[in-house]
Amino acid sequence: NEKLVIDRATKYYETGTGRVHALDNVSIAIRDHEFVSLVGPSGCGKTTLLWSMAGLHDLTSGEIRLDGTPIHGPHPDIGMVFQDANLLPWRNIQRNLAFPFEISGKSANEDRILQLMERVGLGGFGNKMPRELSGGMQQRASIVRALSFDPSVLLMDEPFGALDAFTRDEMNLLVEEIWMETRKMIVFITHSIPEAVFLSDKVHVLSARPGRLARTFTIPFPRPRP
Ligand code: ADP
Ligand code: ADP
Repeated sequence: NEKLVIDRATKYYETGTGRVHALDNVSIAIRDHEFVSLVGPSGCGKTTLLWSMAGLHDLTSGEIRLDGTPIHGPHPDIGMVFQDANLLPWRNIQRNLAFPFEISGKSANEDRILQLMERVGLGGFGNKMPRELSGGMQQRASIVRALSFDPSVLLMDEPFGALDAFTRDEMNLLVEEIWMETRKMIVFITHSIPEAVFLSDKVHVLSARPGRLARTFTIPFPRPRP
């Protein structure tokens, strides 16, 4: 029942001034339906690891497997929410949400998108342009976009780090509800240990230079509240 396996992930970036060793031999196995957080100081390789899980770049060595199959390139069963919502500024919300379907040559599941929009509190906002929405509302749209193919894995790269504290808490509650309703696997990056403990079944702590798995906490249920 280990659905997503990070097997000895090592990553170097080649830069003009030499090699940056971002990840060193990180191994983590994640079960279906599990909510895990990746925490650690800036530069410990959290984003590098998540991007590799999304197939957005390859590892230098090691492998990431979903249901036993190595991941290379974007995968329809993996959705991702980035730090910034990354909405196309010239398209309204509805046409932003149709975009992944267009580029993959599929017809958009309009009913599902509308249902997801209602669920995350975006009902009636389809005709708004991204710049007309607050940061929190833009992230709601990017959550809908990530869920629109109904992936079994949802990756979230510090999705609410730029939001004010109240909105961040609100969004974390929304993520917890989505997780409980859909039982998707969620891999969540945050700088905040209380946030990680609040949300997760397991908290994986990375240490920096190069990024290594320092330790893993299993959070009991019901979870302690910060
Ligand atoms: P985190 O998300 O934990 O802050 P990152 O994965 O962004 O860590 O970065 C890990 C290390 O790799 C850092 O030292 C960072 O400077 C470096 N790094 C990240 N992306 C690149 C890149 N595209 N080119 C060169 N170095 C990079
Ligand atoms: P349309 O609204 O005509 O369907 P798309 O959103 O599919 O256009 O964009 C087609 C391409 O044109 C995009 O990949 C993008 O690079 C470019 N593009 C369209 N509008 C703009 C814009 N306002 N600024 C920058 N690039 C744009």
